[in-house]
Amino acid sequence: MNMIFKKILICAVCAVSLTGCGKRSISPDNEICSDRNVFAMDTFMTICAYGDNADEALKSAEEKIKYLESIFSVTIEESDIYKINNSHGSTVEISPETAEILVEAVKMCGKTDGALDITLYPVLNSWGFTSDDFRIPDVKEITELLEYVDYSKISVDGIRVTIPDGFQLDLGALAKGYTSDAVADVLRENGVESAVINLGGNVRTLGKKPDGSLWKIAVRDPFDTENDMCVLETGEISVVTSGNYERYFEGDDGQRYWHILDPSDGFPADNGLVSVTVIGESGLYCDALSTALFVMGEDKAVEFWRKNHDFDMILVTDSHEIMYTSGVENSFENLTEMSAEVIDSD
Ligand code: AMP
Ligand code: MG
Repeated sequence: MNMIFKKILICAVCAVSLTGCGKRSISPDNEICSDRNVFAMDTFMTICAYGDNADEALKSAEEKIKYLESIFSVTIEESDIYKINNSHGSTVEISPETAEILVEAVKMCGKTDGALDITLYPVLNSWGFTSDDFRIPDVKEITELLEYVDYSKISVDGIRVTIPDGFQLDLGALAKGYTSDAVADVLRENGVESAVINLGGNVRTLGKKPDGSLWKIAVRDPFDTENDMCVLETGEISVVTSGNYERYFEGDDGQRYWHILDPSDGFPADNGLVSVTVIGESGLYCDALSTALFVMGEDKAVEFWRKNHDFDMILVTDSHEIMYTSGVENSFENLTEMSAEVIDSD
């Protein structure tokens, strides 16, 4: 197929940026911030930690990230996911971390009624999102591949996993969220009480700033990705954004095709949203939800929030409107000309 791939923006920059943390910089209260950059999971990651043991803790954090990448990757041949994806229906033994993320992932697929589906890999593959060899598959091909998409067919029994022959898993929608929680645990175990973990748009803070003040987390403007859309002032929290600008290609039909697919038809989810930011306690929960709510679109996302109420969110619609939930009302500063409205609880 003769395609023009004009603009391929791979997530080399993050959707969420952090203000106020530099490389071994001195913070206003004279605390040293140590930081470490890691490239893993196809993402530039930065962790910034305060305290006497920060350097040691960051070393352990990096090791943890590399370890989790080595078991969650779809391409590393020794990884648990690779083994599962090449098991042809037989049972595979995996590490406890993979078992844990799989159990949580399957739960989130169910909770979101399949908007999140970690068995989408064969369809993502046919679009080229796994290889950067982008193409527009025809409807027949997608329909055939959708036969192999159904998270409810994943069986996890302790560390033993079985999926049907032809099925393949991809944890891309929530692996970074899980990793941010794991990194927070490692830092805390190593005596760090104040840190910011930024895994390419997946931000997880630990405690407050060393002087006891709140962090400022900036969320990228999906229509102007060089600039920020808003700033959130917050204590310990996860802030995760999914957007259609993070990874996409343009076909010769002039249309943009992005990396978040709607499992109901196998096409890029196009339900009125261009970005979804989820704010909550758990990185894994926020990451899984940001992808799922993007797929659901505005009305269903609002309905989901009203029913669950255990997170906050900022939606940006394709008609340039910002909508946010009441929990962030007092910590939210709009930096754009877009209108911003609070979503009612009922
Ligand atoms: P995120 O940036 O967290 O929204 O995750 C997007 C990534 O998740 C994509 O690059 C795919 O690897 C994968 N993905 C895309 N659509 C879905 C979906 N509906 N359910 C599960 N994973 C998905
Ligand atoms: Mg996600």
